Formats: sequence, structure tokens, C-alpha cells
Amino acid sequence: MREGSLEAPTRHPLDWKNPEFGDPAKAEQELERIFGICHGCRRCVSLCTAFPTLFDLVDESPTMEVDGVKKDDYWKVVDQCYLCDLCYMTKCPYVPPHPWNVDFPHVMLRAKSIKFEKGTKLRDRMLSSTDALGKLAAIPVVAQTVNFVNRNSLARGAMHSVLGVHKDRELPPYAAKKFRSSFKTSSSFPVRDGKNTPGKVAVFSTCYVNYNEPGMGHDLVAILEHNEIPYVVVEREVCCGMPKFELGDLDGVSKLKETNVPVLARYAREGYAILAAVPSCTLMFKQELPLMYPDDPDTAAVRDAMFDPFEYLVLRRKDGLLKTDFKQPLGKIAYHIPCHSRVQNVGQKTRELLESLPGTEVKTVERCSGHDGTWGVKSEYFDNSMKIGRPVFRQMAEAADGAAPDYVSSDCPIAARHIRQGMGDEAKDAVKAHPLTLLRKAYGI
Ligand code: SF4
Ligand code: SF4
Repeated sequence: MREGSLEAPTRHPLDWKNPEFGDPAKAEQELERIFGICHGCRRCVSLCTAFPTLFDLVDESPTMEVDGVKKDDYWKVVDQCYLCDLCYMTKCPYVPPHPWNVDFPHVMLRAKSIKFEKGTKLRDRMLSSTDALGKLAAIPVVAQTVNFVNRNSLARGAMHSVLGVHKDRELPPYAAKKFRSSFKTSSSFPVRDGKNTPGKVAVFSTCYVNYNEPGMGHDLVAILEHNEIPYVVVEREVCCGMPKFELGDLDGVSKLKETNVPVLARYAREGYAILAAVPSCTLMFKQELPLMYPDDPDTAAVRDAMFDPFEYLVLRRKDGLLKTDFKQPLGKIAYHIPCHSRVQNVGQKTRELLESLPGTEVKTVERCSGHDGTWGVKSEYFDNSMKIGRPVFRQMAEAADGAAPDYVSSDCPIAARHIRQGMGDEAKDAVKAHPLTLLRKAYGI
């Protein structure tokens, strides 16, 4: 058997409708097979806490091999994986078409879905229902109350012990006005299609932007308006499904897909580029849903029309259709590329655009921050999420020249919040700002 592979990785669809997928004994066999390969390889030891957990279990077992690890302990490894996909996309030489066919994230997902079927904590069901939580918190008095409770140490202590939401995790506040009910309507610019980009945009707002940081959505539409790109906000949307996917709730993902995909496919077929400002949501439509529904033409149409905002803007510039009338220098930016942007395989588009801004110096940090969507919020994983993030916090506290940055930024607003929290008093004057906010600022609009 040859070592490693020089061929481009191919990803097999997720075989989640096959009854064997949910068979615990079959899943354990596959876990054992892949754990055996990983034990002999160990390349991924520094990526997250799933691999060190596995290797410690092996090293402390009577045989010092995977066969010495109790099957019940396999779940300890599964719980440490937050499905960032980095091991598959950036490290593993044994992914298909290599005959060893290692897809570590997919076997983790399979195990998570079996665990989900056995029963899930109220906390996990709640945290993965971002839409339901957002709708509730969008009621004005409720939003104020939730925000107050989230900042109150007594209430957070109770949430920690009763719900399992870590008392020290800084939670995003709920906005008084949702993005979807407050965005500015597009002017009626003519549609100018480029060689690489459709000339009109449909914005999938995402739960996070809609309920927590509507400013990011306002920044995106202001940039589109400035560049005379007509846009709409999609007529109807629910959560993209990523929080349920990460929990292994694949039927829950499926229900959300049934609402989103027909609507988005209509925009795709009408020639819109679909933009979502949260990388996990973009990844859901670009990768995870197509792997769950490989034969569904609507899912494929949405995948092909879906862009990360900076991917779209950089391609727009390549088409000669992006304005470069930047008025305001931004100074020093410490910029973090989240895992869910890295695994989209579109290159470092945000970095490219930020670096092209006059009077702007960008230091890029490409390493997992350790938060993930809901993983780092949970009491049992909070400490590990801070541990994984520590090198990122340290690197982000310095700009390229070693001085403190003016801005701390990440495409993932949840990672940015986590990084800012982890930095503590280091570079305390640095302002947390999403790259879209920075770009809007540079345009002076
Ligand atoms: S998918 Fe991410 S979190 Fe899971 S094992 Fe791979 S690197 Fe670790
Ligand atoms: S996922 Fe691949 S690269 Fe990582 S430890 Fe396992 S076999 Fe090695």
C-alpha cells in the first residue's frame, strides 16, 4: 500500500439514508478502522482535542493499540470533534481516492447522529435552534431581558449549572431591530454580469446577522449599493442547518433544507449570486447539503450560485466591476481566517482585498480559534475551546510590525467574539470589526 496520495481529494457523499449508517455496531467498526490508521499516523495531533483524546486513550490502554481502547471511550473522541473539516481538507493524505478512504469528520458525524438519535440534552436542542431563539429574542422586551440575563453573573451561574452554558462565555447580544426588517432596499441599477460574477445578488441574511449583528448585513448591502450591484434579501429563509448538522441531527437539517433550498434555487436559476456573510452558512450550502443530497438538482443549483462575500467581491474586481475609490486608510488589522472559510477552497479572498486597501497593513492568522458554532459555549468544552484558541489570541494581539493592531477581525463573527474575549487586556484598544465593516469604512460610506 502506498504512503499518502498526490491525487486531488474526492469526497464521497454522506450515505446517511443507508440503514447501516445508523447501526451502532457498524459505526463502531468504522471508528475502529479509522482510529487504527490515525494511531499509526498522528499527523493531526495539534489540530484539535479529538486527536490527543484518541492518542491518550490508545497510549493508556493495556495493548497500546486501538484494540485495547474500550468501545464506550470512542464517544470521548467524538465529543471533542466540532466538525471543522480541517483534518480532511488540510492534513490527511489518506482521504479518497486513497484506498484507505479516511474521512475522519464524516465518521465523527455518523457517530454524532447515532448519539443524537439516542437522546439529546435540552441545552443542545435549544442552542441548535437558532431561528426559534432569535424569533423569541426579537420581541423587544424579551431581547432586553435576554441581554440583561446574559450579562448578569447570578443568572449566568444558574445557566451554567442548570443548562450547561458556560458562565464565562461572552454571548452575543440580540439586536433591537432584525436585519430582515430593517435593511435598505436596493436602487434599481442595471444588471452588469461579469465573466466571473452574476451582476445581481440575493442576500441570505443568516440567523446570526439577522438577530445578533444586523450591522454586518447593512455593511454588505451598503457595499453592493456603492458598487451599483442590485440586490434583494431572499424572500424567505430559515437557519442554514449548520448547528443541527454539528449536533448530528440530520433529520433536523433536512427539514430546514426543504424550506431554504427551493427558495434559493429559484434565485440561482434567475441568475443571482447568493451571498451569505457567515462562513459556516456558506459552507453548509456549498458543501454539506450537496454531500447529503448529491442527486438533488436544486441543491446543486444553490451550491453553484453561492459565494462567500469576499470571494464574490474579489471576482467582481477581476471582472473590472468593483470600485476602488477607497477614502479611508484603516491602519493595522489583525485578521483571522476561520476554518469554515479555509475549507471552502476559494483562497484567502478577504486577506487579498483587505491588503489592497491603501494605508492598511494586514497580519493574517490562519489557525483554528477553537470556538465553533455552539461547541465553545457549552460548559464541558469551554476550557478546551480557550486552550485551542490561545495561540490565536496571542498572535492576534500583535499587528504585522509587532505593535498592537487597530482592528481585530475574522470572517466568522463568532470566532471574532471568542478571540476578543481570549485576548483579554492584550491590545485592549483594538476594535473588533467584521471585514465587511472594515471594507465599508474604507469606502467611507
Ligand atoms: S473535523 Fe476538526 S474538530 Fe473534528 S477531528 Fe477534524 S480537525 Fe478535529
Ligand atoms: S485524519 Fe488522516 S492525517 Fe489525521 S491522524 Fe488520521 S490518518 Fe493521520
